[in-house]
Amino acid sequence: MTDPLLARAPRLRGARALFTGRAGGVSRGDHAGLNLARHVGDDEADVERNRALLAAEIGAPPVFVTQVHSARVQVLPPHGPVPAATADAQVTDRRDVALAIMVADCLPVLLSDPVTGTVAVAHAGRQGLLGGVLQNTVAAMADFGARPADLTASIGPSICGACYEVPAPMREEASAQLPATRAVTRWGTPALDLRAGAVAVLQEAGIAAEAIDAEHPCTLEDERFYSYRRQARTGRFAGVIRRA
Ligand SMILES: [Zn+2]
Repeated sequence: MTDPLLARAPRLRGARALFTGRAGGVSRGDHAGLNLARHVGDDEADVERNRALLAAEIGAPPVFVTQVHSARVQVLPPHGPVPAATADAQVTDRRDVALAIMVADCLPVLLSDPVTGTVAVAHAGRQGLLGGVLQNTVAAMADFGARPADLTASIGPSICGACYEVPAPMREEASAQLPATRAVTRWGTPALDLRAGAVAVLQEAGIAAEAIDAEHPCTLEDERFYSYRRQARTGRFAGVIRRA
């Protein structure tokens, strides 16, 4: 892998974290680059090779889940093999594995607690964000003794509010529940700012504003990342975190 650290997570403390991009992988064609997803029609051997490259970079095997835009959090067992799971967030205080979450426009959210050593990843698209995936993730971290006031967070590369056009009724429904999401595209049509929504949810959960980093590239605008809006048949990049 040449340099997968396209976007770092400077606010995260007590953890090693990175966001991958397309650079450094072996996939070809529509998935060209470091595609980490098995379900998108890519060559399976290429995906396994890419996952091995990621494991070498982060220094531990990354744990993936089957993501379904839910609000379900997988809490890893305290030791031993991690069973396959369907979930959209993961939490652990283990040092021997890394947590991964895959995206291509949705928000990859990384969380760490430098006090207890608890780390978490979450996949927050419109559905998961409104469904409470971030609240559930913070709650699962609290079960490890993590206090929201100690948490640090990074909201990684994802589609921005000026690009994420949605039908007007969808904007109304989302912004009625989470006003910070209300946005307008660069070309003047209804949009959602999921990052602003995520920041609002994390602050509401008790995380300090200065402990949240959301300054990352827009996946639709920046071709270093996979974007489902730009190309429906494409790969997935990942947010990855490991306890330091
Ligand atoms: Zn954008």
